[in-house]
Amino acid sequence: MAQPQQQEIIKTTVRLHPAYETDNPWGGETIDVELTNGPADMISTKLESVANLWYFQFKRGTSNTVYQYFGVIDFDFKRILARPNRVPTKKELLEDEDIKKIIELLEQKYPAFTVYFSGRKGIHVYVYAPEMFVYPPPDFAEDRGRLNWLHSFLNTTYGNEIYDMLDASIYHIGKGIRPYSMPHPKTGIRPFTIYQKGPYDCIWTYIIEGKLWDTTQLFVPEINSFIQKKIIDRTKKSGISEVIKVNTLSESSTDMNRIVLDYLNLQPGKIAGNGICLVKSNGKCKNLFKVQNTTYCPIKRGCHSRIGKSYVYIYSNHATFMCFSDTCGVASEYTLKKYLPPLTNLTDLSTELFDRGEISQRHFESITIPPDQKYVSVEDIE
Ligand SMILES: [Zn+2]
Repeated sequence: MAQPQQQEIIKTTVRLHPAYETDNPWGGETIDVELTNGPADMISTKLESVANLWYFQFKRGTSNTVYQYFGVIDFDFKRILARPNRVPTKKELLEDEDIKKIIELLEQKYPAFTVYFSGRKGIHVYVYAPEMFVYPPPDFAEDRGRLNWLHSFLNTTYGNEIYDMLDASIYHIGKGIRPYSMPHPKTGIRPFTIYQKGPYDCIWTYIIEGKLWDTTQLFVPEINSFIQKKIIDRTKKSGISEVIKVNTLSESSTDMNRIVLDYLNLQPGKIAGNGICLVKSNGKCKNLFKVQNTTYCPIKRGCHSRIGKSYVYIYSNHATFMCFSDTCGVASEYTLKKYLPPLTNLTDLSTELFDRGEISQRHFESITIPPDQKYVSVEDIE
């Protein structure tokens, strides 16, 4: 006799209401709710009534892989759209320039989505699309790797314009989004629909009825678009101290590519039979190269067990390495500088400058050397 087929258990993580009204609204207990244990509308209603915060993170059976649904987007604007005694109308909200822009972009991309006013200064958007249910490759499953994966998916899926406006922090483990049944904690205003496209009105019913986990896909981040994004992030967060190691090479060559290769060739980790080489990246950065045929990582100051995550930016007088492995992470970099001999004798400087003939005496006199600069070289003055 055939055994009855056992149904796979799918769970999602949610956060409950806090124990007391006066507690931090996000301070409730975190629990897993089974999605495969009853009719979709019953489970949806339960999720809406018990959960203070939704994560949209899923687990199946006993697997450790965490799946994620990215069809939920949060946009916060700088200005406050509602106050306790002043609820904006649907019409007013739809006339808001930022909201109009977001709806326009979503209209071009998706056949079904709902836009809610969040209750104070932003909107929540629910996109109904099975391709939003994804999981990371094992390399990107944890910590910084997972964060990079998550940002890469959002950027690739929604495009730069939407990505730049949205609050990406709601997808991080331990974060989440307030469901549409919950009033805003500061204004007491419950989210309300301001725009709808397509037949759906409950994201949970959509996920559970559609069994989106059956068609879930692996998402592998694109390393090039990824690096572009990292550069933008890095310029945004000025003030965050990054670990930057600088090493000056005693090197007569003027070719920075050559200096980088010579440096790598002095290190362990070379792959037998293949010369170390720098392969130009396909992205927008003209000076970005992938390091190939070595497992040596300048950030780690040692070898990785696997190859392929070191990149280098080549400039005229220096080169900066970055490593995208989980253990190193993009917050650290390693810089090689071309050796420029320190000038300790002013006669040398003036002789060399006058020999060149192209720098005028007036120019020469007007130069100020900042106190933090240890040496002056001819290149600095040019
Ligand atoms: Zn590394």
